[in-house]
Parts: sequence; C-alpha cells; structure tokens
Amino acid sequence: MGDSSYNVIRVRKVSDAKRYIQTKKCTCGDPYMIISVDSTKIDGKTCDLYHVVCRGCGDKKDLVFKLSRDEREPPEAY
Ligand SMILES: [Zn+2]
Repeated sequence: MGDSSYNVIRVRKVSDAKRYIQTKKCTCGDPYMIISVDSTKIDGKTCDLYHVVCRGCGDKKDLVFKLSRDEREPPEAY
C-alpha cells in the first residue's frame, strides 16, 4: 500500500523538476520556491519529494517527481 495521495510528476532529470516548479504558479499568481527536498518511495520506486512554498501567499505544497532513471536514456550529447 503506497501513499497514493501524491500526484507523481514524471521527469527525466532533476533540472526538469526544478523547471516544472519554476513555471508552476500558485492560484494567487505568484511562483513557488523550493524549501527542501526529500526522497520518498512510491510503488517501490524512489521519488524526489519537493517541499515548495508560494512566494506570495505562503501556500505550501509537496510535489513528487519520479525520475525515469530506469529507462536507460543515453546521456545527452554534449
Ligand atoms: Zn500563492
């Protein structure tokens, strides 16, 4: 029984997770910023759990990103 209350966002790289957070806006229209990062297990897979807070209204959110490490992508050519 995993904790399925999280909406897991699939990304390829950590930088994609950061970009997602940077482009995501709170309902008040202000951007979020990262407070801290944890890891969590969902369905047996290690995911990155980002704690973010809205710069405007202080609304806190937990965002879970699953890196597709298991899908062996070739490293980006330079
Ligand atoms: Zn807000």
